[in-house]
Amino acid sequence: MASKPLQLKFVQSATRVHQLPELGPEVAFVGRSNVGKSSLINALAHQRQLARVSNTPGRTQLINVFSHLAGGAVVDLPGYGYARVPGHIRGDWSSMIEGYLLEREELVMVFALVDGEIGPTPLDVQMLEWLRYNDVPHTVVATKSDKVKSAKRQRRKRDLAEGCMLEQGDIVWVSASKNVGVDRLRDLVISHLTT
Ligand code: GDP
Repeated sequence: MASKPLQLKFVQSATRVHQLPELGPEVAFVGRSNVGKSSLINALAHQRQLARVSNTPGRTQLINVFSHLAGGAVVDLPGYGYARVPGHIRGDWSSMIEGYLLEREELVMVFALVDGEIGPTPLDVQMLEWLRYNDVPHTVVATKSDKVKSAKRQRRKRDLAEGCMLEQGDIVWVSASKNVGVDRLRDLVISHLTT
């Protein structure tokens, strides 16, 4: 059976929770810069340019909100981990993201992206520990599965799960480039937005 569409429309960018529109249940995507977040959101929505909005200069540091036609919203949180980001911006990033993740009542699920090829970085682990500590519902998504050679796949899956302190079955593997696992993730996203 074909996966249901995820029809998204960019609504607005914001820096603080109180500026966000109320569109019903919300899922958020978070991950370090370059993890493949924009590519994945575009693949989920079948729109090549959608998440480019968040890649335009000035918007990379903002919370970007997309409304879902059938109800709810998808939120693209700014990527973390740019070594060149000055300390005070990093501080703003943390307070903005932490504020969103802790205070947003509409938030039902956070998809925490980890690069499937390189596994969780120390910052990813810190993010996962923080989500766990604060009881923020989250699902780990491993990106770029096509970059892992099939001979190494089983081991990589085991190592990545271990690095995230999870069972292998808890992790959703995807490749936005090769459209692997994207339908399954889309169904999961829709199930959170429409229940
Ligand atoms: P973002 O910074 O997290 O939004 O990451 P992007 O979506 O811009 O992707 C960062 C880089 O990874 C780009 O060069 C993408 O082409 C590449 N990329 C993203 N997803 C995949 C994937 O599924 N497979 C492969 N091989 N490359 C990917």
